[in-house]
Amino acid sequence: ECYKIPTTVLFAGKLPIDCNSYWAQGGIIYRNFDPESGDSAGSLAADIHRAGAGLCNDSAVGKVSVEGPDRVKQLLLDKTGPFADVPFDTTDEGELSLCLEASHSAPRILHIGDYTGQAITKRMTEAAAQHPLITFQDSTVVTDLLVRDGVCVGLRTLEGFELSTKGVVLCSGGLSGIFEHSTNPPGFNALGSSVALATRAGAETNDLEFIQFHPTALTLEGEAPFLLTEALRGEGAILRNSSGDAFAKSFHEAGELAPRDIVSRGVFNESSKNGQVYLDISHREKEWLYKRFPNIQAHLRDRGLDLASDLLPITPAAHYTCGGITTDLDGCTSLPGLYAAGEAACTGLHGGNRLASTSLLEGLVFGASVADHCGRGEAQGVYEFAKSVIEREDFDMIANRKEDYRSSNEEARLLLMKGKGI
Ligand SMILES: Cc1cc2nc3c(=O)[nH]c(=O)nc-3n(C[C@H](O)[C@H](O)[C@H](O)COP(=O)(O)OP(=O)(O)OC[C@H]3O[C@@H](n4cnc5c(N)ncnc54)[C@H](O)[C@@H]3O)c2cc1C
Repeated sequence: ECYKIPTTVLFAGKLPIDCNSYWAQGGIIYRNFDPESGDSAGSLAADIHRAGAGLCNDSAVGKVSVEGPDRVKQLLLDKTGPFADVPFDTTDEGELSLCLEASHSAPRILHIGDYTGQAITKRMTEAAAQHPLITFQDSTVVTDLLVRDGVCVGLRTLEGFELSTKGVVLCSGGLSGIFEHSTNPPGFNALGSSVALATRAGAETNDLEFIQFHPTALTLEGEAPFLLTEALRGEGAILRNSSGDAFAKSFHEAGELAPRDIVSRGVFNESSKNGQVYLDISHREKEWLYKRFPNIQAHLRDRGLDLASDLLPITPAAHYTCGGITTDLDGCTSLPGLYAAGEAACTGLHGGNRLASTSLLEGLVFGASVADHCGRGEAQGVYEFAKSVIEREDFDMIANRKEDYRSSNEEARLLLMKGKGI
């Protein structure tokens, strides 16, 4: 908005539904500004580093910990902000309701029931659709980046091409959907486009070995795994083994609230030895559970299960791509003219394992930084080169080369789960 740059947004499916962001359940990190709360930029940074197994990039951690809450305020909370009115849950006193999630040292997660991503992406797409400088193009699959003399000047789609004199931003998500067990929604989503496009164009990638497995995906015969949010454990859910015993303290002193990779390994090891593992929050009050987790309860009810009375069978499932296209703190990749943000990017924030609810925040913070970098014209030389290429080259012949990239990946999914899983 403040830089007046015309922007075309291309995406493979239909928005807002066909993306991981829509399905985010638990929430987005904010901050408890009460000095008594124990929350601060420093404590968030320490939590991110601890969860990331000491492999995080300290500059990225510092940026998100310090700038993050301000960006949430500016973009999602302020009445004058572009996406204001996201209806975050509040307490009986009308304050923002902040909840605890695993491996966080303070309650600092903003949420809307268990459908936070849905509410945020709906609000964002509605606001962006009304903006005169933003054009949406759905059902458009990007197949390659157009690179001339080491500068990204546009991209190819299945149907044609788009050129850009102000940079191309890849925010096309991660690759966890290529595993047999995945929490990521189906469709042309999280299948590795970002890394494939960037690699073919010569941009660097990093940390691709760090795939995060979420420990608690509901597993039912004949169905894709369904995420049971981290917030359930934040609200007291217990991991039980096939004998009904709580076992989380046997693998980590923080039990259910240990970092995700540790809980995933704990669940995986227990189920490999002794069979099915369950999540149990039936000790919490029924009406409260139904209000706090309405989507999960609806999903369970359709399958004859109930949060308030049943042990829920779970399995770890591929959830998040910690690595991706290497970027600096402005979202610039190693290829001039190409930016990356969100799960597509590897800013180094997550190290070996992502802290719960950092992902939506990272997208917000780095997405805004990309806009700042473009808007301030810091890569003016690159933009001018792209403009000169676009003016002199005839790109129309590209539009005639049509290819079909859609194919079944079932075999690859099975192989990945067996050979490259937990
Ligand atoms: C079930 C679930 C729950 C989660 N809960 C939380 C949570 O509570 N808090 C949190 O912080 N994070 C959560 N996450 C993680 C978070 O949702 C994602 O990491 C984040 O939303 C990624 O956003 P993104 O914009 O980078 O990518 P996405 O939201 O995945 O968007 C990528 C888009 O790119 C499109 N695309 C991909 N390839 C192409 C191509 N070749 N051409 C055109 N378009 C393409 C996709 O179709 C999609 O629309 C959750 C993830 C899942 C799966």
